[in-house]
Amino acid sequence: MTALVRVCRACDEPVEDPDDAVYVGHTMANSGPGWPIWAHRAHVGLLRPGAGAVRVLARVPGRL
Ligand SMILES: [Zn+2]
Repeated sequence: MTALVRVCRACDEPVEDPDDAVYVGHTMANSGPGWPIWAHRAHVGLLRPGAGAVRVLARVPGRL
């Protein structure tokens, strides 16, 4: 057992079966390397592509 817990981005439930975990992207963090984003295989279709990452990145360019 490891402490690694994959949480589904779509439903916020832990993905307990590794075979059911689908890597869908990566989130940047202010105080670290960030973390991977996972989703249940059945829930991948519910996610908008890069929804979380895009939202974070959208703040970076800013307006002059
Ligand atoms: Zn899910």
